Amino acid sequence: MARIPVKLVSWDEIVEWSRGLAELIQKSGWNPDIIVAVSRGGFVPARLLCDFLDVTDLLAVQSQHWVEAAKAAEKAILKYPYQIDAEGKRVLVVDDIVDTGDTIELAREFIKRSWKPAEVRTATLQWISSVAKLKPDYYYLEVKEWTWFQYPWTRLEDVTQFIRRILKEDKRAREGLTRESLEKLFEEWYGVRVSDLGFYWDLAIEKLSRDELIEVSGGIIRPLKGS
Ligand code: ADP
Repeated sequence: MARIPVKLVSWDEIVEWSRGLAELIQKSGWNPDIIVAVSRGGFVPARLLCDFLDVTDLLAVQSQHWVEAAKAAEKAILKYPYQIDAEGKRVLVVDDIVDTGDTIELAREFIKRSWKPAEVRTATLQWISSVAKLKPDYYYLEVKEWTWFQYPWTRLEDVTQFIRRILKEDKRAREGLTRESLEKLFEEWYGVRVSDLGFYWDLAIEKLSRDELIEVSGGIIRPLKGS
């Protein structure tokens, strides 16, 4: 069992899930005039929904909540609360996943109150029913056991943070690790095969080294102070 359950999500799955989500919306007989992506996680699904649902108006609101992959941070905030006139419009707010539910709720409330559309509905690819405070109006997959979904648009960011976390928290990493032992620890912590990460693995090591969080010398990777 991995310490932190992670599932790598592929681009193909994203397209398939977005298409499934679009079908659910269509079947409900409701059609949005405007799609609003919750930035940044909602961007790709929102753009795909525009294609499947034939919607041309795509906006975004930026909300921030999680600062570190697979680790909860403090409350969600809306970064740029701009105004538009959405009178009479049906608005669909789209995000990748409802985990706590804070982010999408914040976006929905803001849009309702400030843009005053005719109606706001929410749609996400995934809904973690065991932890979420709310259920989106539309979701494609219900997740029962909490998992970190490693979406393809945050692969470098997540892999970098995953490695950092091992180096910070695993005693076995203190004196430095060979590449092979780091890969083994990674698989043990996250249940993800390093060979499935393609070039992202090397990019993450390069980034950590560039940011002076690790030192790579003589085939040994060592955490640096401040990492
Ligand atoms: P929501 O309000 O939609 O439930 P959260 O506030 O829980 O979202 O999380 C904000 C964002 O963090 C999500 O839109 C997603 O991009 C990312 N995120 C949160 N939980 C997960 C997870 N379990 N797997 C992958 N990404 C996640």
